[in-house]
Amino acid sequence: MSLIVTGSIGIDSIESPAGNVDNVLGGSAIYFAAAASFFSPVRLVAAVGEDFPAAFLEDFRHFNVDLAGLEQRQGSKTFRWRGRYHTNMNHRDTVSVELNVLAEKLPPVPGKYQDSEYIFLANTHPAGQIELLEQFPQRKLAVADTMDLWINNEKPTLLKLLQRVDGLVLNNDEAEMLAGDSNVIKAAARITELGPKFVVVKKGEHGVFVTHGGAKIVLPAWPAEAVVDPTGAGDSFAGGMMGYLASTGDLSANGLRKAMACGTIAASFNIESFSLGRLKQISRADIDARLREFSQMLRLDN
Ligand code: AMP
Repeated sequence: MSLIVTGSIGIDSIESPAGNVDNVLGGSAIYFAAAASFFSPVRLVAAVGEDFPAAFLEDFRHFNVDLAGLEQRQGSKTFRWRGRYHTNMNHRDTVSVELNVLAEKLPPVPGKYQDSEYIFLANTHPAGQIELLEQFPQRKLAVADTMDLWINNEKPTLLKLLQRVDGLVLNNDEAEMLAGDSNVIKAAARITELGPKFVVVKKGEHGVFVTHGGAKIVLPAWPAEAVVDPTGAGDSFAGGMMGYLASTGDLSANGLRKAMACGTIAASFNIESFSLGRLKQISRADIDARLREFSQMLRLDN
């Protein structure tokens, strides 16, 4: 079943305790699509500027992602972001952000994408998220991600979006900011009152909490020894999750739990390098092997 994403495509610069990199390929849609592509084909709709390096595009063709909806827009500049991680890599600061093409209209959706059923609105301007969503009235599932910048600066548009999606993924700080409650369980419950049927709260190394109807799902994170760069952890988590849901069509609570595990494992590989370095080295077999190990760690029945 077909999975489509919009979100940011960025030129990132990152300072982490494991080292610094300047001007590498990043962006929420990039991390999402790369991770999801291990589970399902992915269609991407997003714009970059005329400064976007051709080498990034060549590199990204490694993944099973349809790029017919990617526009290189003349006269515009690519989104840029610089982040700095604290010694405790659960915390980071945005040092600078240049929205550039993210503040403009989305490119047209290619006709061959019209039958997309699974929609992921990765982190980007909520106006762009709504613009894509409205083009898929027959969708089976629509899930969005968001971030502090949009919660602080674009709240009315974000609230409009929340009324229209089935699910929302966000991290614990963002959940607290959006719901005004520092308890993630209560914050997630409040957010469901804003529209989404399920809310996935990512808690970094402390795993994930999901509220779905009356049900709750909890999963720990993969016990990672070597974290090089957490950038894109949330997006690659969402990619594993949506890729699994689109490939199985299983939207039950059990399916959602398995999808969380796929997201956890996709993110666990992503954080082992800067940019897409690690995801480019692995195959679906590596993901499945780690999933089996993870599942063994979680066994409670004997
Ligand atoms: P994550 O670590 O999952 O939060 O995602 C980090 C990625 O999101 C980076 O590659 C950035 O280019 C991108 N990013 C940072 N800020 C924003 C923003 N406000 N909107 C969209 N994408 C962003």
